[in-house]
Amino acid sequence: MRLRPWSLALVALPLVALLVMLIRTPSKLAVEGNAAGAHKGDAVSREMAGAAERLAGAIRFVTIAKSEADDEAVGTDAFGAFQQYLRRCFPAAFAALEPIETGTRSMLFRWPGIDQAAQPRLLMAHQDVVSAQGGPAESWTHPPFSGTIADGFIWGRGTLDDKAALLAILEAADDFARRGQRPARTLFLFFGHDEETGGHDGAARVSEQLKAQGVRFEFVLDEGTAVIRKPFPGAHSDLLMIGVAQKGYATLRLTAVARGGHASMPPKELAVNILSTALERLFAEPFPADTRFAAPMLNAFAPELGFGQRFAIGNLGLFEPFVIRTMSNRPAQNALLRTTLAPTMLAGSDKENVLPRTATVTVNARIFPGSSIADVVSEAARRISDARVTIELSPFQSEPSRVSSTQSPGFSALTESASKAMGNIPTRIVPGLIVAATDARYFAPLAADVYGLNLCRLSQDDLPSIHGIDEKLSITEYSRMIEFYKHLIATP
Ligand SMILES: [Zn+2]
Repeated sequence: MRLRPWSLALVALPLVALLVMLIRTPSKLAVEGNAAGAHKGDAVSREMAGAAERLAGAIRFVTIAKSEADDEAVGTDAFGAFQQYLRRCFPAAFAALEPIETGTRSMLFRWPGIDQAAQPRLLMAHQDVVSAQGGPAESWTHPPFSGTIADGFIWGRGTLDDKAALLAILEAADDFARRGQRPARTLFLFFGHDEETGGHDGAARVSEQLKAQGVRFEFVLDEGTAVIRKPFPGAHSDLLMIGVAQKGYATLRLTAVARGGHASMPPKELAVNILSTALERLFAEPFPADTRFAAPMLNAFAPELGFGQRFAIGNLGLFEPFVIRTMSNRPAQNALLRTTLAPTMLAGSDKENVLPRTATVTVNARIFPGSSIADVVSEAARRISDARVTIELSPFQSEPSRVSSTQSPGFSALTESASKAMGNIPTRIVPGLIVAATDARYFAPLAADVYGLNLCRLSQDDLPSIHGIDEKLSITEYSRMIEFYKHLIATP
C-alpha cells in the first residue's frame, strides 16, 4: 500500500511529538547532596542540651490565646510569666534588643544591624498556643504542658507551633550578642500573643503602629512550611517549600429553614434534608485546579522519580489532567492545587423526636491565591441554587495573599540559609504555598515580600500533631532551626 503525503504526516507527527517529549523528560540524576558541611550528627551537645531545656521550660507556660483560655480555666497571667522566663533565659539577647512598647502582650524589638542603611527584615513567631483539648489528656504520651524531654524529643503543645521558632530566634540572637556580634541588617522581631485566635489585638495593631512610623521591610519571615522527609514514594530527597503565598480563609454558614413540628408527622420539606441536598451540590465537584505552586515541586523531584512520572512531569502540558487526578487523591497535595472546602460544625434539633426549624452547617474554605472570598460565596450560591438555604460569612476571614518574589535577594538569603542548615541532607528547595493563614498577613502592606517556613524536618505523619496530640520536636531538628536563624541573621 502506498502512503499519500498527508497520511505520512499523520504517522510522523506523533513520532516527532514523542521525540520532543522524550527530550523534555528530565533525566534521572544521582541524588545531589548539599555542598554545605555535614550536620553535627545526632549526639546532643552540651549547648543543645541547654537549648532543649530552655524550650521545654517554655512549653510549661500555658499561653493559650484568650478566647480559648476561658474554656481551659487558665486564670494566671501565663504570658507575663512566659516573658519573664524568656528574659531570664536570654540575658545577652535582651540587652542587645531595643524593646518597642506595643501596649499588648505581643513583643516587638528592634535589633540594629551592621548595615544601617539597608532595609530591615522582620522575623516573627507567636507566643500563644492552641488548647490541648480535642482528645483526652491521657492520649498524650507525655502531658501536653509538661515540657518533657524524652527519646531525643521535646514534647508538648507549642513545640512545633510555634514556640520552637520563637526560642530558636532568641537562641541565635543570644549567641550573636554574647559574641558581641550584630546582625548583617537591622532586624525587627515580633512575637504575637493571639495568632491562633486571629491576631486582631497583636499583629493587626502592631502593623498599624509600624506603618504609622513609616517602617518598611525588605521581607517578613513567619512560620509556614516545614521540611518534609521524602515527600513521595520513590523520592530520595527531602522537600522544603518556602512559602511565597498564603491561602485565604473564610467560613460559610449555610442555614436551611423549614417548618418544625413533631417527628411522628414529618412534612415533606425538612430542614435537614434541604441542607443535605445543598451540601451534596456544594461538594459534587472540587474547585478548579491550578498547578502554579505544584509545578516547581514536581519539576524539582522529577529526576528522582520513575520514568513514567518523569515523562508526565516533563510534559505537564499534556499530562496535567493525569497529574492533577493523582495529586487530588492526597489531601496535602490537593490543598496545593485549589480552593478547598471542609464542612465542620453541623446543627439541627436538640431533641431526638423534634423536627428542627433550621439546620446549619459551617463550611471552612481555604482560598487559592488569585481567587477571593466573594468568588467562593458566589460559587457556593450558584451550586446550591436553593432560596431556602442562606449563606452567611463568619467574622474571621482573610483574603488570599499576593505571591512574593522568588528572584529577590531576600528569597536567596532564605534559600542559602536553609541549604546551610540542612547540611548534607539532600533537599529540594522550591517556592510553595502556605495552606494556613498566619499573622504574617497583617505585615504584607509593610513589605515587598512575605515568606513562611519553619526549618525542621518532619515526616507526613508528624503533621497531624500540630493542633493535635503528641506535638513534639526532636532536639536534632531544633538545633537545625537555630542554625538556620544564625545563618539568616548573618546574611546581608
Ligand atoms: Zn502557628
